[in-house]
Amino acid sequence: MLNNNNITTIESLGEFRFIDRITQHFKLKNSSTKKGIGDDAAVLDFGSKKTLVSTELFTEGIHFNLMYFPLKHLGYKTVVSGISDIYAMNATPKQITISLAISNKFSVESIEELYSGIQLACEKYHVDLVGGDTTASLTGLSIGITVIGEADDKDIIYRKGASPNDLLCITGDLGGAYMGLQLLERENEVFKVNNNMQPQLTGYDYILERQLKPEARADMLEHFRTIDIHPTSMIDVSDGLSSEIMHLCNSSKLGCRLYEEKIPMDNQTKQMAQELNINPLVAVLNGGEDYELLFTIPLEAHGKIKNDPNITIIGNMTKKEEDIHLITTGGSKVKLIAQGWKEE
Ligand code: ADP
Ligand code: MG
Repeated sequence: MLNNNNITTIESLGEFRFIDRITQHFKLKNSSTKKGIGDDAAVLDFGSKKTLVSTELFTEGIHFNLMYFPLKHLGYKTVVSGISDIYAMNATPKQITISLAISNKFSVESIEELYSGIQLACEKYHVDLVGGDTTASLTGLSIGITVIGEADDKDIIYRKGASPNDLLCITGDLGGAYMGLQLLERENEVFKVNNNMQPQLTGYDYILERQLKPEARADMLEHFRTIDIHPTSMIDVSDGLSSEIMHLCNSSKLGCRLYEEKIPMDNQTKQMAQELNINPLVAVLNGGEDYELLFTIPLEAHGKIKNDPNITIIGNMTKKEEDIHLITTGGSKVKLIAQGWKEE
């Protein structure tokens, strides 16, 4: 925690010294970054490569709660969530811009905390912070991120490329970030009633990390190259498995069968779901924020992934007429909808 002697108001520095202060430790790493922060625009040069652009906006009270979400983690997660979209195209993120709307409850030091998380993610994923915008807000904090990436045209993987009989696959496991959030929310409610209560978080380090410090699956793209698989379509899981599957199916003009029993979940995810009396399937289908990669590969590539601990086959693509279905562990067939599923 900061003591009062260490609190600087943003007003006392003025906008330009404030931007200098929060961005001073960022060093440029990519040769495609010709000019970063400090002019009217950044200058980028990708030579013969294709350029990819993706933007996200997060607002306090809607996307994050600063009662339990540390600012440093928020900075890190903002970057991860932004670059994950670029990785989901099988491209490499290179530059980011960050835009802030800040109310006067935030000190310079608190925004420096946010930027220390942004910087940590920039180091880890080798991206340059090349600009942004800073403005005032009446209440709360909003953070916008734009990510710029590069790829060879032939390497870009779209949502639309899947074919019938392709295997539907997922990296890692699902539902952890959602159950981590439920745990943090529960402890926050307890704390609001009695602020002498210490949060009960032990034994749940994995799901808390999934919520508070997620990673983008750059490592899996590398892994795909190593095991020589070429996804036909791909998307990252930011909004929950149902809506991501629907995106792949709709873009590829296909149907799909998803098998409940195949969906990979960590034990902590299942345990927390049981403790809170939540169907873990809700965490997976509606939860989101796992930032795993959902992708399809041709049936012939089955042998390359069947024993891979990092990849799970969770279903298969079908003709459009067969629609998008979940086959439950009990064997019934239900229709998937954008937020969850529907009994027929
Ligand atoms: P302008 O008045 O031309 O919009 P600004 O004063 O907003 O310029 O920004 C000056 C420089 O600082 C620009 O390079 C801009 O991209 C960068 N910048 C502004 N706000 C941020 C921020 N929150 N994070 C990172 N860079 C920023
Ligand atoms: Mg500006």
